[in-house]
Amino acid sequence: MSTILHEPTDTAGAHLELLRSMLEETFAVHTARLTELTEYGRLPDHGGYEPHTLELLTMSHRQHVADAAQALRRMAEGTYGICEGCQHRIPVGRLHTAPHATLCAPCQPQPF
Ligand SMILES: [Zn+2]
Repeated sequence: MSTILHEPTDTAGAHLELLRSMLEETFAVHTARLTELTEYGRLPDHGGYEPHTLELLTMSHRQHVADAAQALRRMAEGTYGICEGCQHRIPVGRLHTAPHATLCAPCQPQPF
């Protein structure tokens, strides 16, 4: 019978690694998109976009980049996954849906 070693059942750590790669990917994807949109903005026809649409898209991607960057910073600081409202842990399921979440569901103001 094999001895089951008492492995560090660091599920939080495993989740954190996955979430970190998700955030890094989000950061990279939106940064690339921002670069693209910035280039479109310099074109005479704005790459076929309405200038207003281009502006909204740029703002949206910039927000995603900022959210991901801030989440990665919180990971580095060790405050990632702690609700800023009630200071409790944000459930891992919620973080998988929204890796940049700073609030747990009950503390999150409803959009509507
Ligand atoms: Zn909370």
